[in-house]
Amino acid sequence: MTSARTALLAALALFAGGAFTMAAETSGTAVNSVRIVLPDEPGPVLQKIAGILERQIVQRCAATVSTSGTAALAVELAVEPGIGNDGFKISGADGGAIRIAGDNERGVLYGIGKLLRGSRFEQGGFRAGGWRGTQTPKCPIRAVYLATHFNNFYEAAPLEDVQHYVQDLGLWGYNTIIVAYPPIQFNGLSDPAAQKWLGRFKTVLAAARQSGLQVGLLECPNQGYKNTPAELKATKVPGNFRGNFGVNLCPSKPEARKALFQLYDELLDQFKDTGLDYFGFWPYDEGGCACPQCWPWGARGFAALAKELAQHVRARFPAAKTILSTWCFENENDANPDGEWAGLAKVFASEDKSWASYLMSDGHDNYFPKYILETGVPGGLPLLNFPEISMFGMNPWGGYGANPAPAHFQRLWDRIKHKAAGGAPYSEGIYEDLNKAICAQFYWDPERKAEETVQEYAAFEFAPDAAADLLEAVRIFEQNHSRGGIRDSAVRAFELVSQSEEKMTPQARKSWRWRIFFLRALIDKEMFERKGKLAGEPLKQAFEELTRIYHAENAGPMPLKPPQVR
Ligand SMILES: [Zn+2]
Repeated sequence: MTSARTALLAALALFAGGAFTMAAETSGTAVNSVRIVLPDEPGPVLQKIAGILERQIVQRCAATVSTSGTAALAVELAVEPGIGNDGFKISGADGGAIRIAGDNERGVLYGIGKLLRGSRFEQGGFRAGGWRGTQTPKCPIRAVYLATHFNNFYEAAPLEDVQHYVQDLGLWGYNTIIVAYPPIQFNGLSDPAAQKWLGRFKTVLAAARQSGLQVGLLECPNQGYKNTPAELKATKVPGNFRGNFGVNLCPSKPEARKALFQLYDELLDQFKDTGLDYFGFWPYDEGGCACPQCWPWGARGFAALAKELAQHVRARFPAAKTILSTWCFENENDANPDGEWAGLAKVFASEDKSWASYLMSDGHDNYFPKYILETGVPGGLPLLNFPEISMFGMNPWGGYGANPAPAHFQRLWDRIKHKAAGGAPYSEGIYEDLNKAICAQFYWDPERKAEETVQEYAAFEFAPDAAADLLEAVRIFEQNHSRGGIRDSAVRAFELVSQSEEKMTPQARKSWRWRIFFLRALIDKEMFERKGKLAGEPLKQAFEELTRIYHAENAGPMPLKPPQVR
């Protein structure tokens, strides 16, 4: 397609109501068979990535996919170093084939994502996206943090579903999957519960790596096992939000320090086979010690402990990068700030700082540390954000279906987009899938608008012809996010969603992504009409379906199990 024609289509789409064109970019006609062409000796990662392309096509339409024989369309995958880190190039090849070349294997995955999102999946089969060109991501760290607790999706869903979900995140541009081993839930490494956790999440991380992604662990370095003797424990830290389940240790006590290094040495050894690309240090929620030797925690006890633990990480994983989080550091708006920001800056100014690769910073709700915005990043380290996409403004989390909030995340991102080297959204499940896509695309291209990603997501996951209507529905969802303030626009959103469903394929209509989106519209309409009362058969069935989709049957009533209607 010529650029003049692209521009004309874009202008027409804008004229037609602010829509970003997506649908018109396919090439050729729908095909009922696709052959994926791999290089000779493709290697296990590229083979796995070819499997992702195959799964995506066959789950969305009736086309068959093979890696041998003849087919109506060939899609060639190749690794071609030199495109730019994690980048890809999509080109047309002889005989109508499509060629996706990645700078590395991950780059091929991103190219596949780009191709698929511009494609149409129809009754006649697969109509490939027509976008051709080269893209490279701007931010090097495009991670997602998967919380693994409370029997959330990541803990409770069938392992294969979690593995596929992680691969799907890669299609949007993520390059790193991070989890946190939670010592406070276990009595040591040999505790069967600890072994179960390790068995499951080492498998998830290994599968992520086999799909070309990187993996990391995030740990609160002074957190101990729940059977830790009382005399090793920390002095409770002041302030709200600095969660404490009672097993933080004081690293200024020699025996506690010994126990902590034993814990983390044993844990790191568990990941020898899986490998670790990142290790993150978390100061609070959990974490912290307010004894005179450790305080102010972020600048003293925490920084010293993280620095020493970084040597243990690098002894086992020499190429691993470290992330120093500042979550719940002092709030400078408080009357008596604790001196953590200035103290940490002083540490980096006076000592070797090579142990810390990145600094992560963010806050609850709309807060972002003033120190970073006004003074800068301590040590001048590259900055990562940690957007909270899961829990904001709704309880139970995900209990009412999808929770997209493009305007909210656009506001948060705009404050730091010129400074950030990437980040890692905080995820409690799959209900914030659309928020994850928004963040992935911010990291890929900091200037990309959240609403543009919403449209691309709706076109890809639901129906290209319904993308503009579904963007309008998302705007309404966000206006009605607060459960106490659902307005009559909820009725309009339900209309938009219902009429969009008529434009969708049977496969898209049945997908969990659509169901959680549709149910959000239904629940909001019902709640508006019932003046917020959670009653009646439609709501009962909607919450039960969400519970099944999330595998939340065994999640506690709070914070993750959808509301129950009797
Ligand atoms: Zn202490």
